[in-house]
Amino acid sequence: MVSNDSVALDSIAYFNEKFVPISEANINIMTHAFQYGTGIFEGIRGYWNNEEKQMYIFRMKEHYVRLTNNCKILMLELEKTPDELCKLTVDLMKKNKPSCDMYIRPNVFKAGLIIGPSLLNTNGRNPTALSIYTVPMGDYVDISKGLHVCVSSWTRLDDNALTPRGKIQGSYVNTAFAKTDALLNGFDDSIVLSQNGHVSEGSAMNLFIVRDGKLITPPVTSNILEGVTRDTIIQLAKNELELETEIREIDRTELYICDEVFFCGTGAQVSPIIKIDHRKVGNGQIGQISKKLQEIYFEVVRGRKHVYKNWLTPVF
Ligand code: PMP
Repeated sequence: MVSNDSVALDSIAYFNEKFVPISEANINIMTHAFQYGTGIFEGIRGYWNNEEKQMYIFRMKEHYVRLTNNCKILMLELEKTPDELCKLTVDLMKKNKPSCDMYIRPNVFKAGLIIGPSLLNTNGRNPTALSIYTVPMGDYVDISKGLHVCVSSWTRLDDNALTPRGKIQGSYVNTAFAKTDALLNGFDDSIVLSQNGHVSEGSAMNLFIVRDGKLITPPVTSNILEGVTRDTIIQLAKNELELETEIREIDRTELYICDEVFFCGTGAQVSPIIKIDHRKVGNGQIGQISKKLQEIYFEVVRGRKHVYKNWLTPVF
């Protein structure tokens, strides 16, 4: 992940209902979310358009609607609406005066200074807090050369244990296991399977395969995060390439015999995969459909395709 730490350390964050220098945006070590992972987060990108000297935040409202819905899972009492969160984020971005691609990280979390994992806010002792910070971010994985990934020995969490749908802080330990093992074993990243052995998603991204010219992705009931980029790809494939996406379970061995595979996500963007578990995907080159979708995606997010401008929030 490319991030410019010196810029991030000087930045302004939203914390305790105010804009403060990030060095002052600190939590107490007794904080519930720090002890038990009881928070929900989001990851949103802002793309810098250098010709227009404009920052476009991509599908921000959809991210905040997801965050708001997920707060119900953790019984978090978020008092702001998605529109208010969007406005707050634009105000924060303005304060940080960015001129490169940025990543926005909102967290809604249980802020009580108490021992015990209950989500209840009994007598106001476990209130909800909101923080938002921004950091410069380039590519999360190398999207130019094609990735070599493995199928992880770590299983994706099940919905009825710790749902991946929720983007719950504590659930990312599962992601950390999958990503770390992949890196230690010399892979770029990993694909995780559900408890029933079907393909779920990437460590922190959704996944599509192409078989016989058909685009296929697992359903939202395969223990995936309901990705904003996944939805974007489904729409772009239909509108721009006249390709319908088949939504169905994918077997592990389909990964070995299909023509193309790619990851997608806010961080991962569109990341073609050329090898899985030492087997070439297709002919071992970046596939044509993956490449086209990647190109279209970057035109859209930087504001160069006018029909999709309603997905972008200009900051300036
Ligand atoms: N799955 C997981 C587990 C993720 O963390 C992410 C990144 N947010 C995604 C999928 C992709 O989701 P989105 O396109 O909304 O960023």
